[in-house]
Amino acid sequence: MHTLPGPHQEELRSAPSELQVPFHRAAVGEEEVQAVSEVIRSGWLTMGPKTFEFEKEFAKYVGAQHAVAVSTGTAALHLSLEAAGVQAGDEVLLPTTTFTATAEAVTYLGARPVLVDIDPDTMNVDPEDAARRITPKTKAIIPVHLGGQPCDMDEIQALARVHHLRVVEDAAHALPSEYQGKRVGQISEFTCFSFYATKTLTTGEGGMITTHNPEAAERMRFMRLHGIERDAWKRYRGNGSWFYEVLEAGFKYNLTDFQSAMGLVQLAKSDSMRVAREAIAQRYTDAFSSREELVIPTVREDRGTSWHLYILRLRLDRLKKDRNSFIEALQRHGVACSVHFIPLHLQPYYQRAHGYQPGDFPRAEGEYYSCLSLPIYPGMTELQINQVISAVLITAAEFRIVRAVATNANPIA
Ligand SMILES: *Cc1c(COP(=O)(O)O)cnc(C)c1O
Repeated sequence: MHTLPGPHQEELRSAPSELQVPFHRAAVGEEEVQAVSEVIRSGWLTMGPKTFEFEKEFAKYVGAQHAVAVSTGTAALHLSLEAAGVQAGDEVLLPTTTFTATAEAVTYLGARPVLVDIDPDTMNVDPEDAARRITPKTKAIIPVHLGGQPCDMDEIQALARVHHLRVVEDAAHALPSEYQGKRVGQISEFTCFSFYATKTLTTGEGGMITTHNPEAAERMRFMRLHGIERDAWKRYRGNGSWFYEVLEAGFKYNLTDFQSAMGLVQLAKSDSMRVAREAIAQRYTDAFSSREELVIPTVREDRGTSWHLYILRLRLDRLKKDRNSFIEALQRHGVACSVHFIPLHLQPYYQRAHGYQPGDFPRAEGEYYSCLSLPIYPGMTELQINQVISAVLITAAEFRIVRAVATNANPIA
């Protein structure tokens, strides 16, 4: 039996014919093929000069002091939490509305993921609910910028200052995003990016951590490659470059040079790819905002979103059918959708291992049952954008509850 690489990968398969609008298609082309080929021909395959160049350019792009390239976004979270000193028995706050990777990285260190409810407007972590869940064991908080819109970072930073929490941002969706004019990647002590196949910048698999803490950057560079001390190499170079010292049980989390070469090409296109997604979001918002069965995503005034996702919500009280039926109807119209995310407290593992149960986070659940993510990526054609819009409008009209009008003049309301 085959093991699929990940749940998101399925989203890439859902387009059997040209009439279909797949949920996602990565914006990669000849330039990426060229850059990767050059590295393969150079003979240097693993982490090397291209990776260091990618780190430098990435840090410059987001305005960070240090950038550490790693093999996945999950590895980025793991290394950040480790460098922040999270240990067995500690508690780490994170929203229930996220991908399992956010919480899974906490469990790698033997710490406990403490789930937090969301703000139903942005679907991001609610700082007030986070504050209520702080205990003497709370060591860190992981705000997740859902779909690309930054969390309430002022409130989160204030909470962190008062309670001495480390802040590790899960910015898997937030490249490029801004909070009060600052790009995500320069705001908190740690910011973790993902370059997974469906993300706004992709290297197939990959990740990056940005930090303004030089010791943490050093620690993460050391731990991403087996906990081997590089200075020992320098010290003993005179005697032979074969010498190394293992100072910790580290990890194997480095990125390869051919992935970094692809990352550099993608990074150069990052702004124009955002412009393309933004234009699609604008088209959707223009088409849907006057429909009372639909709730369009709101972007706070002091923030800029990457538009990694366009999360549409349904006014279920005005519809005859549920979200799942809505998605099935869109599928029949050739439009593939997704859902971000099934709250973690509804997942068997988090219920079994951490005692969560349905009903624990009513706001997250409410939004979960009403949300769907529409296709939004630079390669979408005009035809495809129009197809999504008409599929959504037709389905909303079909599912709408027609209210009896309190007049006998016109029974056909
Ligand atoms: C994709 C994703 C991750 C994990 O990234 P990988 O590169 O797949 O390990 C973490 N958090 C969120 C919210 C994500 O969507």
